Order: sequence, then C-alpha cells, then structure tokens
Amino acid sequence: MRVLLVEDDDRVAGALTPALARRGLAIKRLASGAGVLDRVHEVDVVLLDLGLPDIDGMVLCRQIRAVSDVAVIVVSARGEVDDRIMGLRAGADDYLVKPYDVDELVARVEAVRRRRVERIAAATPASAGVVNLGDVRVDLDRHEVTVSDRVVALSRKEFQVLALIVMARGSVCTRDHVLNEVWGRSGPAESRSLDVHVATLRTKIARPALVETVRGVGYRLAAAPDEL
Ligand code: CA
Repeated sequence: MRVLLVEDDDRVAGALTPALARRGLAIKRLASGAGVLDRVHEVDVVLLDLGLPDIDGMVLCRQIRAVSDVAVIVVSARGEVDDRIMGLRAGADDYLVKPYDVDELVARVEAVRRRRVERIAAATPASAGVVNLGDVRVDLDRHEVTVSDRVVALSRKEFQVLALIVMARGSVCTRDHVLNEVWGRSGPAESRSLDVHVATLRTKIARPALVETVRGVGYRLAAAPDEL
C-alpha cells in the first residue's frame, strides 16, 4: 500500500517513515501542502497533518476530495471534537489524534483502505457489466463466473483477482496493482498468496490460455474481451 505522509514536523516524519515501511507500507513524504494535489493519484492513502505551514489542513482535505477518491486520514495534535467533525465533514475517512500508536495508525490505514476498495467495488457494478471471453462469462455485477454456462465457485479474492485482470481489457495488470487492490499491501507473503490464487483460478476455470503471465510484471487476458 502506498501512503502519502503530509507532515511538516521532521521528527514525526522521521520516526513514522521507517516504522510504516517496516510494516510493508511504501511512504512518500511532503513537508507542506504544496504539491499534494499532484501526488494524490500515486497513492492509496493520504495521512494529512492538519497543522501545515502553508495551508489549512481542512481546506487541503476538501481540495483533495475534489480531485481524487483517495482515502484520507486526518492527523491532528488538537483532538477537539470540533476538529474531528470538521475533518470528517471535509471528506476525511478517519481522524487520528497525536500522539498515536503506530500500530493503531497502520490498522486505521488498512481499515480505511479496505472500506474504500469495498465502496468502489460496490459502486462499480452498475457500469461494469458482463465480459465474455469465449465461453467464459465474467459478470462483474453479480460477482459470478460461468464456463460454458456452468457457474464456477470462486472465493472472494479469486474473483477480485480475475475481475482486475478482466478490467484491464487485455493490457497488463501488474502484480503490484492486484496486490494493493486485493490484499492492501504487496509483501512477500501476499505475493506468494497471489501466485496460489492465480493457480487455483486457472484450475477452476480450466481454460489455461485465458490469463497469460507476463513474467515479473503481472497478468493479462490472452484475448481482448468481446465487450465490456
Ligand atoms: Ca504540523
């Protein structure tokens, strides 16, 4: 998972960056509000300190919300109820008061990320539709896969992995993208789990040529879908 830390305090950032990195999060840091809007598209979660030297954190939070669907956790030394409500009103997903425990922060980051992925998944179906790949039919609305009209029972993660590959429409779907979307992080354990899920998917669907492995990069459909 990629986290953008917006924090002007070097001591806080200096302590947090290695602690989050040890827990498998990739951290980018900005010491002020400048440039934040250009970077939000590169990350999954923004950790936003409200007390920034160049802009009010609440204002910045609203600006982020206006341009991106990224998860935002507002961090503040204040902790007044008013701040919490203001932060959530400004579009933040969660609110954390300094000083906080790093493990709690990581748990919040993961929870916020999970809720966003679920919300996006729930919001996608209306337009996602059905993808036909020869005799394999992937129904992104109903989370159902059929092969020759027979329903294939996939686990939640197996379906999510397949859906991401299908939604790439024949372009390469990178391992990092799948790991971050489905597992929320891309450590070695998750990477091994992805291999297992793809192998199981291939066995269950029994169309070995459907999903190609692009060695070291990711996966793609062997043929473009008929329609999406
Ligand atoms: Ca500050």
